Amino acid sequence: MQQPPLDGVADAGLDALPEGVDLAGYGEGPREECGVFGIYAPGEDVARLTYFGLYALQHRGQEAAGIAVSDGRRIVVHKDTGLVNQVFTDTGLAALEGDLAVGHCRYSTTGGSTWVNAQPQYRETPAGGGLALGHNGNLVNTAELARELDEPPSNDSEVMAGLLARDADVSLEEAILRTAPRLTGAFSVVVMDENRLYAFRDANGVRPLQIGRLPAGGWVVASETAGLQIVGAVYVRDVAPGELVCIDDHGLTSRRFAPPTPNFCLFEWVYLARPDHRQDGGSVLFARRQMGRVLAQEAPVDADIVIPVPEAGRDAAAGYAAEAGLPFADGLVKNRYVGRTFIQPSQSLRQLGIRLKLSPVQEVVEGKRLVVVDDSIVRGNTSRQLIQMLRSAGAAEVHLRITSPPIKNPCYYGIDMATRAELIGADLTVDEIRDFVGADSLHFISLDGLISSTPHQKKSLCRACFDGEYPIPVPGEHEHLAQFKFDFDTV
Ligand code: SF4
Repeated sequence: MQQPPLDGVADAGLDALPEGVDLAGYGEGPREECGVFGIYAPGEDVARLTYFGLYALQHRGQEAAGIAVSDGRRIVVHKDTGLVNQVFTDTGLAALEGDLAVGHCRYSTTGGSTWVNAQPQYRETPAGGGLALGHNGNLVNTAELARELDEPPSNDSEVMAGLLARDADVSLEEAILRTAPRLTGAFSVVVMDENRLYAFRDANGVRPLQIGRLPAGGWVVASETAGLQIVGAVYVRDVAPGELVCIDDHGLTSRRFAPPTPNFCLFEWVYLARPDHRQDGGSVLFARRQMGRVLAQEAPVDADIVIPVPEAGRDAAAGYAAEAGLPFADGLVKNRYVGRTFIQPSQSLRQLGIRLKLSPVQEVVEGKRLVVVDDSIVRGNTSRQLIQMLRSAGAAEVHLRITSPPIKNPCYYGIDMATRAELIGADLTVDEIRDFVGADSLHFISLDGLISSTPHQKKSLCRACFDGEYPIPVPGEHEHLAQFKFDFDTV
């Protein structure tokens, strides 16, 4: 392992990075996984409400989107690659008539970004009907389950849809109760047949899933509170870990397919969920403010202003500023209209990296000692480039404060972070990371400090990417532990 030379990097132009550092990963932090939405509301425009729901969940997946609608006789699916507003037109939505629907926006944790992999996945069942399924999470026993299917699936959601369709000879409900206990990993799922909407969540409840009620009496299920609010639904409760809910003409019924063993994703609180998401009596916005306060207590610094790295760092930066008694300012402006789809196609565009997404506000940062608050450091490249930009804009000092502990391990439960070899926190000390990113000082929130900012106790949280304790065994994972060293050639 050879650390690239740092001398002069801080003052150099962005193109003067050390040789051997591949810029392809610039701007690539952890990637959201998927958003799911389901609605049972006869008499309502369920396709359009699902569209709005997906719109509110767009941050969870920007590669593909789809909606399946049933009018009680047949299921029609429209899906494609792209953002929600690229996949659907007014005319297309008007053609999707029915009483119930499921929707999905996708980021691919397994399988490529193709039309086939877009969801909802549709399958015909032996009983002569069909099912449509949207999944958020990731299974770790996909290969084992896939052997039971005649046609080789290309991702875990296809496996799930294939198994449910195969077993839905009596009813989809019975197929779920038979299949769900055999799925290992993280899964928050909405699935429907022609007449019923189902939602189920793995026993660990890794990914969120919430139930809401529409004013006229219909039901909504969504990954986050924002998906309920945007269609005017009132939050009722979360789908419990290990629970299957069925919604039809008779209302909502609940059955259990596994005893609950909660291990909610801690990273949802740091980065993934929108700030207006509420879970288990807690607010993500308040939790992030508290993370900032904790950071200010753990790592105070003599500085002039606190600035966030938008958007996930915003509430924490406000918390830091309040606790430290420092002014809060927007020192970085985010271009909201640059999505992954724009950055992906060409290497030259990717190399523009974070400059496409963020710009420093010279009037704010020039001559100032900055506290910069961000949510995480994955490969280190984004932070490094960001700090160079701030110094080029005249920042006198840059003190980086991070609302998650160092990410040392990959996530196998639906978040695409990086491989262990790409994770800068897996092998380097905090001082080494500080030197790599070029900050004057660097502090990661302690794990205890982070947990205390959420409404959960340590025992009911998955923290594996930080402490390596995987709550759901991952086949082969222990063989990979400690095998990798952070390799600057791979970042
Ligand atoms: S490993 Fe990290 S990102 Fe993945 S579920 Fe656990 S806490 Fe969340």
